[in-house]
Amino acid sequence: MSELTHKLTESDLVSGNQEWEKHKHEIEPDFFRAQVAPSQAPTFLWFGCSDSRVAEATITGLGPGVIFVQRNIANQFLPDDINALSVLAYAVDVLKVPHVVVVGHTDCGGARASLGAARREDFDPADRPVVTLPNEDPEAPLNRWLASQTLLAHSLQVSSKPHNHSDPLARLTEANVLMQIDNICNTETVKKAWAKRNSGHAHTLESISGYIYDIEAGKLLRIEGSLRHPPH
Ligand SMILES: [Zn+2]
Repeated sequence: MSELTHKLTESDLVSGNQEWEKHKHEIEPDFFRAQVAPSQAPTFLWFGCSDSRVAEATITGLGPGVIFVQRNIANQFLPDDINALSVLAYAVDVLKVPHVVVVGHTDCGGARASLGAARREDFDPADRPVVTLPNEDPEAPLNRWLASQTLLAHSLQVSSKPHNHSDPLARLTEANVLMQIDNICNTETVKKAWAKRNSGHAHTLESISGYIYDIEAGKLLRIEGSLRHPPH
């Protein structure tokens, strides 16, 4: 493994902010006042990866105030994750966010770890706990967190279903996004929001969809067939 290099220091957080705030004031004098009047009203709820290269407000050019965010390793929405469930409930029920997106990305370390585990000769999907990182404690947080994605990676390996990608990492990344969308659609929050929408409430959730951000190309692309609307 190559040695990681950290070019900045902690003081760069504040100096970077000062430069940004000054620049923002110059080009958009009312920007900061508008952020608090009357409150935040984001259009999107973004479930993405913690990866530092996939910074939602920057890569979409939308800036602060537009995207409500939950990011974690490998952009997962686990059905028993009280953090993700709370973010979803607040965004949909209180902020009335119309669009939820799940965004995976190329070169995802979490996806690569799951794929590597599923390819190990001794990997048995029936084993519990599911061990993605054999050098860690089997019950370590990362092993618990990546378990469902690793089982997904294994099921894709043994599946004969046709797929869009010959690259197994791209295939897993896309399938992982679709699995999180299913998990989101199965929440009480979304079921209730869809039901409201069907009974004529305009100000509730309109869509859930999946994207892949290609880090090297800098492009955000919607996954074909990922779009979900309220079922009729
Ligand atoms: Zn990632």
